[in-house]
Amino acid sequence: MRGARRTTGVRTVSPQHEAPRSSGDRTDLRADCAACFGLCCVALPFARSADFAADKAAGRPCSNLRQDFRCGIHERLRDEGYPGCTVFDCFGAGQKVSQVTFGGTDWRRAPESARSMVEVFPVMRQLHELLHYVTEALGLAAARPVHEELRKARARIDGLTRGSAESITGLDANALRGEVNPLLLRASELARARVPGRRKNHRGADLIGAKLSGADLRGASLRGALLVAADLGGADLREADLIGADLRDADLRGADLTGALFLTQAQLNAARGDAATALPPALSRPAHW
Ligand code: SF4
Repeated sequence: MRGARRTTGVRTVSPQHEAPRSSGDRTDLRADCAACFGLCCVALPFARSADFAADKAAGRPCSNLRQDFRCGIHERLRDEGYPGCTVFDCFGAGQKVSQVTFGGTDWRRAPESARSMVEVFPVMRQLHELLHYVTEALGLAAARPVHEELRKARARIDGLTRGSAESITGLDANALRGEVNPLLLRASELARARVPGRRKNHRGADLIGAKLSGADLRGASLRGALLVAADLGGADLREADLIGADLRDADLRGADLTGALFLTQAQLNAARGDAATALPPALSRPAHW
C-alpha cells in the first residue's frame, strides 16, 4: 500500500498498444502516495493471516502508518509479515479522494471528514480501476471499432469521480462495471482475434493449483479465472486476457506475458516469477522474484 517513494507507478502498456492519447490519462491512474492521506492504510480492514501480521478494522489507521502518511515499514513489508500490502493498487483513487473530493485537507486536520473519506475511498477505487481498464482498451489498435464508445464511457466515469463525497458514496459501482464490461470484452475479442490459431476460453474457470506448465495459452481468455498457486511455468500467455484473474502465488517462472491484456502490477506482485518471465515492457519485475 503506502510507498515511501513519491509514486508507486502502475503501467499496463504492452507492445501492441498504441501510445496513450495524453500522458495525463495514465498519470492520474497511478498511485501517488505523496499526494494521498494514507487512505488505503486507514479505510481497508485486514485480518491476521499469512498476508498481514495483525488485525485492523476498517477506518482505523494501521499502527505502521506514520504522521506524514507514509508506511513506516515500506522497505521491509514482506519481512515484517505484510505481503498483502504489496499487492494492493488504488489506481490513483487515493490522491483523487485526498486532493479532489476533499480538497487537500487531511483527516488528521479535519477529523470530522474521516468517516466520509473512508466511505468514499473504496467506491473511488472501483471507479479508477474501471478508468484504468477503459484507458488500456483505448490503447489497443485492434479495438478501434469500440473506441468511440470507450471514450464516452471514460468521460462519464471521470465525471463521476469528480462529484461530491455524497454523490460518490451513492453510486452503484457494480452496476457501472456491468455497463462497461461488454465494451472491455469486445475490445479484448478484437485484440485477441489477431492471434493465429484456436484460442482457449478459460473465462471464470477454477484453475486453482492447475498444472499448466508450458501450456499454449496465447490469446486465451482467462478473465476472472482462479489461478491461485497454478503452475504456469514456461506457459505462453502472450496476448492472453487476464482481467480480474487471481494470480496469487501462481508460478510464472519462464512464462511469456508479452502483450497480455489488462494485466496489472498488483497481479504480478501477487505471483511468483523469475528473471526469465517475459513481461509487458511497462510493467515492473517485482522485487521478490
Ligand atoms: S503496513 Fe500498514 S502503513 Fe504499511 S502499507 Fe501496510 S497498511 Fe499501510
